[in-house]
Amino acid sequence: MAVGVLALQGSFNEHIAALRKIGVTGVEVRKPSQLEAVEALIIPGGESTTMAKLAHYHNLFPALREFVSLGKPVWGTCAGLIFLANKATGQKLGGQELIGGLDCTVHRNFFGSQIQSFETELAAPKLAEQEGGSDRCRGVFIRAPAILKAGPGVEVLADYTIPSDKLRSVASDTEAEEAIAYSQGKVIVAVRQGNILGTAFHPELTSDTRW
Ligand code: GLN
Repeated sequence: MAVGVLALQGSFNEHIAALRKIGVTGVEVRKPSQLEAVEALIIPGGESTTMAKLAHYHNLFPALREFVSLGKPVWGTCAGLIFLANKATGQKLGGQELIGGLDCTVHRNFFGSQIQSFETELAAPKLAEQEGGSDRCRGVFIRAPAILKAGPGVEVLADYTIPSDKLRSVASDTEAEEAIAYSQGKVIVAVRQGNILGTAFHPELTSDTRW
């Protein structure tokens, strides 16, 4: 299978290296014609405003939206997850164009700025169906988003209970506060909706290739 990795900005090299570990060649995608040559796509983490500007410059949005709507497998990590969401909040920087497709509201930079980046252990029951049988994985969160709302067709694969020492640094706008109160301190960090997989964290920066 030819797996494309959107290579405009961000951690695309790390995704290509992770694909190599499982014997898959990752193909760098920068142009609409390159998207036609791949069967699946990874949208990496990075900086979603910059990535959107570059995608716009390369006229990639129509091809990306078509790719998603045709039901081809697409995985977005971090900024890639933001890109795939139908709605993004926490837009202090003015926002960006989205591909959409994932019936979720994703809050950018939910956990705070760069220095609030963190690693934690997550439980994702679906992972236990794979080799090794463990549902645990390492979650690397870098200026990470969180999913505040997910529609009925969205399967939640992992959530994260915000520890009390982090509650002070997470986003404090109305949407974030309402969502945290409603979920009693939990946010969603990995989802699947049909052909779309989204993770707020970066599995490609760990040795775990299951995601
Ligand atoms: N904070 C970034 C954004 O809003 C995402 C960070 C990441 O991809 N590691 O685009």
